[in-house]
Amino acid sequence: MADWARGLKKCLTLVLTMTLALPLLGGCQRQPEKHEKQVFAMDTVMTLTIYGDGLTQSAEEVLDGLEHVVQSNESFYSATKPEGDLYRLNAANGEKTEVSGSTATLLKEAIELCALTDGALDITAYPAVEAWGFISGDYRVPSQKELKELAGRIDYTKISLEEETEGGQFVALPAGMEVELGAVAKGATADDLALWVAASDVHSALLDLGQSTIRAIGSKPDGSPWRIAVQDPAGEGYLGVLELTDLAVGTSGGYQRFFERDGVTYWHIIDPKTAAPARSGLSSVTVVGPSGLVCDGLSTALFVMGLEKGTQFWNDHPELEVEVLFVTEDGTMYITPGMDEMFSLAQEYEDREVQVLT
Ligand code: AMP
Ligand code: MG
Repeated sequence: MADWARGLKKCLTLVLTMTLALPLLGGCQRQPEKHEKQVFAMDTVMTLTIYGDGLTQSAEEVLDGLEHVVQSNESFYSATKPEGDLYRLNAANGEKTEVSGSTATLLKEAIELCALTDGALDITAYPAVEAWGFISGDYRVPSQKELKELAGRIDYTKISLEEETEGGQFVALPAGMEVELGAVAKGATADDLALWVAASDVHSALLDLGQSTIRAIGSKPDGSPWRIAVQDPAGEGYLGVLELTDLAVGTSGGYQRFFERDGVTYWHIIDPKTAAPARSGLSSVTVVGPSGLVCDGLSTALFVMGLEKGTQFWNDHPELEVEVLFVTEDGTMYITPGMDEMFSLAQEYEDREVQVLT
């Protein structure tokens, strides 16, 4: 072969090799660094993950800030820790109690959600939650008489929240009633964390506040959507995966906290009308939307309402911008169209019935 031909062949081989190698090189481009912190708070293990290289504020500082937000919210909102605003309010025996600005704001927002859901969410369900043993772990089944008496003590409209005065913010509650924010506190905290992240130079984060609340910030570092698994309420597996960007997810289900007595399962989601575990025919509800507080509060409320009322509620409130996946006790999934676009069934569940709601 002539020298010039040998040279051309070498050159072509080099070009070909480069062309083949480039996409491979692109495929293993280094992703921004992952930084993670686990925090135990609000009765659950939270995993806070942020991504970024060369952050102006160091990743450790951002994560410490997030942990601080979680811990301070927990101490404000706690109904079980003596320093908690709600603990003091519940022990005040009808006297008005000063609370922090954060607690006053969350109480106001939660009361609005109680009203919007016509009391399916009721943050004064706490005496019933306690009576069934969900706080102490000493589970018991209260008598019908006791349940009637407990139901009579559940009424969020009796909470009186004074407008902010120079002296601070005050809340009063009739003696015998108790408030707890367990149905909304994690979602509200996810929103606070999202604000904290937005104030940093992190653009990609996944805040997992335990099994019921997740807040995705931006997309995955490679630009693809986050993939969030949805638990099968009747088993160990995952029904499927939600692909989403910059949204919150709230899930409520009887499987998350329950006990069994004489072959009957009793769970922690209470129907405020009966003071007993809500038996609406649902086994879980997942809500996706822009607000963690709304997703958390609504997943609890829609679980109480059941499929029919819950679907009606979803139809009546487009302003909330939420999408919903209801799973009934027989395992059928009912999904709103926007959620259907984000959801794909896991292979093991492909024969499961999924009905798209309209
Ligand atoms: P979640 O896990 O978000 O569904 O919230 C359930 C928690 O909220 C329970 O552990 C109770 O502490 C409380 N809770 C139960 N039922 C209700 C209800 N109907 N309205 C408001 N809070 C509730
Ligand atoms: Mg909730």
